[in-house]
Amino acid sequence: MTKHDLVIIGAGVAGYTAAIYAARAGVDFTLLEQDGCGGGQITSAHLVENYPGVPRIRGADLADRIKQQAESFGVCVSLGTVQEIHDLGCEKEILLTDGDTIDASAVIAATGAVPRKLGLDNEEAFAGRGISYCAICDGAFFAGRDVAVVGGGDTAVEDAIYLSSVCKSVTLIHRRDTLRSSKLRADELALRSNVTVRYNSLVTAVRGDGRLEKIIVESIDRRKIERLPVDGLFVAVGTEPAADYLNSLPLQRENGYIIADESGITSVDGIFVAGDLRKKPLRQVVTAASDGANAASSAVTFLRSARK
Ligand SMILES: Cc1cc2nc3c(=O)[nH]c(=O)nc-3n(C[C@H](O)[C@H](O)[C@H](O)COP(=O)(O)OP(=O)(O)OC[C@H]3O[C@@H](n4cnc5c(N)ncnc54)[C@H](O)[C@@H]3O)c2cc1C
Repeated sequence: MTKHDLVIIGAGVAGYTAAIYAARAGVDFTLLEQDGCGGGQITSAHLVENYPGVPRIRGADLADRIKQQAESFGVCVSLGTVQEIHDLGCEKEILLTDGDTIDASAVIAATGAVPRKLGLDNEEAFAGRGISYCAICDGAFFAGRDVAVVGGGDTAVEDAIYLSSVCKSVTLIHRRDTLRSSKLRADELALRSNVTVRYNSLVTAVRGDGRLEKIIVESIDRRKIERLPVDGLFVAVGTEPAADYLNSLPLQRENGYIIADESGITSVDGIFVAGDLRKKPLRQVVTAASDGANAASSAVTFLRSARK
């Protein structure tokens, strides 16, 4: 068992930013991350062009820069997956999946969000065998092949654009009659000659012998059913909060997202939240960084007043 004043969970943009602020404030803390590489969701962004001061950058490069900046303040990431947190009053007991326990006076939960699944039979069996939730990570495995993308928001359209430059053909399947992405992205998609968009359609089944071979696409009114041969299916139907490990705490939530104002202060004393995990109108790098800074500042104030 180890002990720190503050534990920051998740080394995405929010967690790294909180760590930079905590380090500069001289707080005793540790930054926990389940994934060896860290960086969070932004590492899967093809191109980021809306973060002030950094006009156009690959998501993975932006994550690297944030990591390097944090390291320059002595921040280092400890590998660990948080399974559960118990509130023991003044102390929080953080249980890791490897059996380790960390005690802390304050916790910043910055575990972000994970891709939403389609909820199909066999979906899990084909994950990594044709089904992917990250075009930028896995697109290269499908070079010259036929693929489909499910979704109609910015991520789905961005994925389809990216894949169209790598794959032979891309079919974008969207359940509504118009895309929800920005006009800029939709216009760019329309210029790609190897992209077909199927509106008012759903993927209802996935088939294959060991690997994905075809998907079943049905029209919303269920009148048309098509067996579409594809080598890859990229799922981009939104995200859900990575918050299961917080289930034992009486936190206020909405649709699973943790409720807190921009200070990151939650309904449980000593538990702060930052980034995509927080209920908020805009989940972006800039708001994750802002949340991280605010949550760290609130945690520092909390720790100082607890010591008095
Ligand atoms: C494909 C894609 C493109 C995007 N493009 C843009 C863009 O162009 N501009 C923009 O501003 N935003 C973009 N975004 C959104 C942006 O990436 C996110 O809003 C932001 O990165 C969220 O940061 P975060 O730190 O809150 O969470 P995350 O990035 O989700 O980081 C959370 C971290 O916590 C870790 N973690 C989770 N659970 C545990 C646990 N139990 N124990 C330990 N660690 C855990 C995860 O491994 C992860 O590293 C994009 C997102 C995606 C997916």
